[in-house]
Amino acid sequence: MIRLRIQVSHRLGRWLVLTDTPRPDCPHCEGDGGIEHPYGDDNGEYAGSNWESCGCWNENHRWRLLPLPRLPRWLRQRDRGRDPWATDGYSNKPPF
Ligand SMILES: [Zn+2]
Repeated sequence: MIRLRIQVSHRLGRWLVLTDTPRPDCPHCEGDGGIEHPYGDDNGEYAGSNWESCGCWNENHRWRLLPLPRLPRWLRQRDRGRDPWATDGYSNKPPF
């Protein structure tokens, strides 16, 4: 089964993309999407870690859905800081 996640990619302009996601019940990575392999330096001190992507998903597996157009400047300014749930003053609809 493939679990998909919708993201906005800014790598090639703005695109809405579907991405693969790690298996939440994966026995290898336990849903983390990879296994961390810490390694030490010559004194045995922690020196970093290698990240091995798990085979239960493909982080490069993505499908571009549709390009997102840039919003015109006037639209961005109008929407900035606006509460989408706010009403314009009192509702003038009668109560039912
Ligand atoms: Zn996995």
